[in-house]
Amino acid sequence: MSRVEAILTQLKDVAANPAKALADYKAETGKGAVGIMPVYAPEEMIHATGFLPMGIWGAQGKTISQARTYLPPFACSIMQQVMELQCEGAYDELSAVLFSVPCDTLKCLSQKWKGTSPVIVFTHPQNRGLEAANQFLVTEYELVKAQLEKYLGVKITNVALENSIAVYNENRVAMREFVEVAAEYPQVIDAVSRHAVFKSRQFMLKEKHTELVKELIAEVKAMPVEPWDGKKVVVTGIMLEPNELLDIFNEFKIAIVADDLAQESRQIRVDVLDSEEGPLYRLAKVWQQMYGCSLATDTKKGRGKMLINKTIQTGADAIIVAMMKFCDPEEWDYPVMFREFEEKGIKNLTIEVDQEVSSFEQIKTRLQSFVEMM
Ligand code: SF4
Repeated sequence: MSRVEAILTQLKDVAANPAKALADYKAETGKGAVGIMPVYAPEEMIHATGFLPMGIWGAQGKTISQARTYLPPFACSIMQQVMELQCEGAYDELSAVLFSVPCDTLKCLSQKWKGTSPVIVFTHPQNRGLEAANQFLVTEYELVKAQLEKYLGVKITNVALENSIAVYNENRVAMREFVEVAAEYPQVIDAVSRHAVFKSRQFMLKEKHTELVKELIAEVKAMPVEPWDGKKVVVTGIMLEPNELLDIFNEFKIAIVADDLAQESRQIRVDVLDSEEGPLYRLAKVWQQMYGCSLATDTKKGRGKMLINKTIQTGADAIIVAMMKFCDPEEWDYPVMFREFEEKGIKNLTIEVDQEVSSFEQIKTRLQSFVEMM
């Protein structure tokens, strides 16, 4: 097995086994993990405690039954799964769960958490352009910090926070380079592998993840660039899972050359900038700088233009919108984006992401026809 294959296998294992990642981390450090609900949270603050930050992004193919008691059937697919898993006690090992509430479904879920872990809820202000928004978020983060310290029994120092910010910035830079390398080498980094590199960063300490990603980049870049005889796409949405769905991309030679997925590139889009105001202010400023996301209010609606630019820059053939079933914020962005794609003559296809389904034949047929049309 080559070193590239070995690294990808390691990252795929982590992505597929978060419970094992947590057990290994506990055995190694004696510390536990803090869950992070989608989409954004000051993860650096958890890293600074020495606990493992772990993303909570649902699961695939689980039949929803208990969750129906607490959520209407039109709540988004991912939160139906999260609620079902909560009811089964899947998150009870977590020492706490961090919750931002930028959409109605997350607001509801934060108020009816059914697991036993303590829940820490905070608000991202939506009038983001104001300096007052930064100050408000600093106050929210002070409360988050105090609760983390209480539940985890640790003190979060500014030195530890600054160190964690540097670790995360380094990871984001490495991941942005990985995105470019994956676009250049689709024969080596296929859709499943690309996703695993992103997903594994949710269940690993970022410094370890960065080390592997940097090694992966160096190994891949040492290979010759081969011409790609398939199609290239930009994908956008909340997430694009599971592997069975990504296998279809591989089968029809559809390379993902850029993404705007909340689970993937939106997490690495914005770095934490320097500031004299201290680490909490630095973390708060990230929200003001965020762009192109359905959850971060943008009255100018720049997401469509961002995606069109990405499509042109990467030479992609089309944009694929991965629409999370019943996700209101994404559905509200869609008509504006769609009109802009059509006006610019950008080919586009929308597929529905439903975590409850386990059959992908319909999507397969649609992707096959789309490729043939291209
Ligand atoms: S942003 Fe969309 S997918 Fe995420 S919790 Fe809200 S409604 Fe669900």
